[in-house]
Amino acid sequence: MARYTGADCRLCRREGLKLFLKGTRCYTEKCALSRRAYAPGQHGAGGKRGGKLSNYGVQLREKQKVKRMYGVLEKQFKRYFSIASRTKGITGKILLQLLERRLDNVLYQAGFALSRDQARQMVSHGWTKVNRQRVTVPSYSIKSGDEIEIKAKSKGLEILRQNLKIAAERSRPAWLGVDGEKFSAKVLRLPEKEDIRMPIEEQLIVELYSK
Ligand code: SF4
Repeated sequence: MARYTGADCRLCRREGLKLFLKGTRCYTEKCALSRRAYAPGQHGAGGKRGGKLSNYGVQLREKQKVKRMYGVLEKQFKRYFSIASRTKGITGKILLQLLERRLDNVLYQAGFALSRDQARQMVSHGWTKVNRQRVTVPSYSIKSGDEIEIKAKSKGLEILRQNLKIAAERSRPAWLGVDGEKFSAKVLRLPEKEDIRMPIEEQLIVELYSK
C-alpha cells in the first residue's frame, strides 16, 4: 500500500498538534513541536497560521490531521468514509472506528510500537499473527475477540521490550487487553470515539465529504 513518506515533524507542525509519528523522539524534548510550535514554510512563524480559516478550511484541516495521524492516503481515507456512510449508525463515529481497527493502530495502541509507522513495518515484516494466522497487511481490520501475537527474534524482542517500557507512560485503551510478557493482546471490544485520546472533530470530516 502506498503511503506518505515525507518529513513527519512538518506534518505535526502543520496541524499544530503532536501526532506521534516518529516513535521515541515524540516522547522526548527533541520533539520538533516542542521547539517550533508553528507551521512549516514561509507562512510559519508569525504568518498565516493565526489567520481565520473558512468553514471549508477548518473541515479540510481536520480531515488532513486525522489522515496523517493514521498514516493513510486520500484514496484509502475516502474508501473508509464510503464504508462508514453505507454502514448503519453515526458516520463520523464509524469512520473513526474503522481507522482505530487497523492492525497497525492496534500494535501502536497496545504499546508494541511507538508509532503507527513502526507498527506498519512490524506487520509487513511478518511479525504479527491474528488468531494464530500470520497477517502482513497493516490495514487488516480487527474484530472483537481477536487475539494478536507479536513474534520477533532477539533484536526484535529488545525493541518490543523498549517500546513497551516507553509506552507504559501513556495509558492503554480499555478495549485492548495487553500481555507485555507474552507480547500479545486481545481485542476485548471494538473501540469507541471515547477511547481515542486525540482531539478529533469527526463531524467536520463528514461535512467536508458530504458537500
Ligand atoms: Fe510530531 Fe513526533 Fe515530530 Fe514531535 S517528534 S513533531 S510528535 S512526529
